[in-house]
Amino acid sequence: MTIRLFNTLTRKIEDFKPLQPGKMGFYTCGPTVYWDAHIGNMRTMVNSDIIKRVFIENGYDVNHVMNFTDVGHLTSDADSGEDKMEKGAARDNISVWDVAKKYIDGFLYDMDLLNNIRPTHMPRATDHIAEQINQVKKLEELGYTYEIPGDGVYYDTSKFAAYGALGGQNLSELRGGARIDDSGKRNSTDFALWKFSPTDAKRQMEWDSPWGIGFPGWHIECSAMSMKYLGQHFDLHVGGQEHAKVHHSNEIAQSEPIVGAPWVSYWMHFEWLMLKEGKMSKSDGTSYTVRNLVERGYDPMAYRYLLLQSHYRQPLEFSFESLNSAATGYKNIVRKIADLMNSDNIGKMDSDVYNTWHDRILAPASDNFKTAESLVVLQELLKDTTVNPATKLVLFEFVDRLLGLQFIDRAKKLIALEQEAAPDDIVELAQRRAAAKAAKDWATADSLCAEIDAAGWTVLDGKDGYKIVKKV
Ligand code: AMP
Ligand code: ZN
Repeated sequence: MTIRLFNTLTRKIEDFKPLQPGKMGFYTCGPTVYWDAHIGNMRTMVNSDIIKRVFIENGYDVNHVMNFTDVGHLTSDADSGEDKMEKGAARDNISVWDVAKKYIDGFLYDMDLLNNIRPTHMPRATDHIAEQINQVKKLEELGYTYEIPGDGVYYDTSKFAAYGALGGQNLSELRGGARIDDSGKRNSTDFALWKFSPTDAKRQMEWDSPWGIGFPGWHIECSAMSMKYLGQHFDLHVGGQEHAKVHHSNEIAQSEPIVGAPWVSYWMHFEWLMLKEGKMSKSDGTSYTVRNLVERGYDPMAYRYLLLQSHYRQPLEFSFESLNSAATGYKNIVRKIADLMNSDNIGKMDSDVYNTWHDRILAPASDNFKTAESLVVLQELLKDTTVNPATKLVLFEFVDRLLGLQFIDRAKKLIALEQEAAPDDIVELAQRRAAAKAAKDWATADSLCAEIDAAGWTVLDGKDGYKIVKKV
């Protein structure tokens, strides 16, 4: 089916048209690996994963690139402030290279917990210094750069007429609004392409370049690495909403003089995960990682389920209450699937019924990624008694491919847990309970039942006797 998406560039929902038939290439601005990515960062990664899954289910061959920002760029968009990687190294008392490794490993671990398909390519900025230098050289040849002695090579945004269009900004407003400081920049919107190392100190990360020893500006890494792995023009570029105004506007300004406009066909921006008090912040101790949620006893799928109940263009307020109710909702679906698997009369898969429900579930997801609406259709499917269990189960295999919620896996685990044989002492208690019931000694039967329950087991009475199952 046709995929529709909200394009930040035009501020409209558009039908997606690939540059090459049957193929889709896209780039996600990945994490700065100086600290653990929190569940807010991971919302952005789940959104990227959903985009990929929707395109795959619609028959596209997807090439997904996500970078690791491991060069210590400076903490503010204004190319000033502290270096995040060096800050991380001082905090953890290890080298910047070890900081990058530690947090890349942690990030990938959390990506796997959330069942995000790994991107096709995950380039690191430090492995692509030559590509970044090449692009700066091209921009210099084309006359877009100037040097601030002792500081770095800067991009002159006044040379790029369309600057700021992505963020919906007007150039004169942008330039007029912010006062030019004494940094030596020609325009307040200008940004660094290459920063010089300080003359009085040695940085842990620095490279030689035609302009002097230093390190690349942050924005150039995404232009260089996206083009290397996706080609000079590609379909879609995504990232958190804050990137539209500065980072992505700068990426466009760098790339279009080199390759011609439009560089990228569609841009998508994701709203943030918020807390009632505001932004989730690592330094205030108000951020959690996916691993923290697991430590608190949550299935990462409960968090994924919570995310998919909202739309990516809406901010989502996180609380443990909302996570609890998502966890309950998720478990209810898993219970129902396990019951379908256990049912005596599974029936045969009906292709016509399958196709109808398949399209009903895929349609909202393909319409600007309305996953919450797909989840509503799922509930309807579970309730519909005219669809036999076999067809429902095959539909849930499709749902797992589309939404990555691992329903089938969790239902199988639930059944395995329930089928686990009860230990001898529980079997004995259950036998005594059955005897008490036969003797109509309800008080003893009830107290034995409570004892079994307290040990984590349940006795289920059926017409052919009783079953002992583990509580989950
Ligand atoms: P960073 O490591 O800060 O560069 O962020 C990595 C990605 O996560 C970027 O695409 C950010 O836009 C995104 N991001 C940062 N904070 C949040 C948040 N609270 N909710 C959703 N996405 C976020
Ligand atoms: Zn980027």
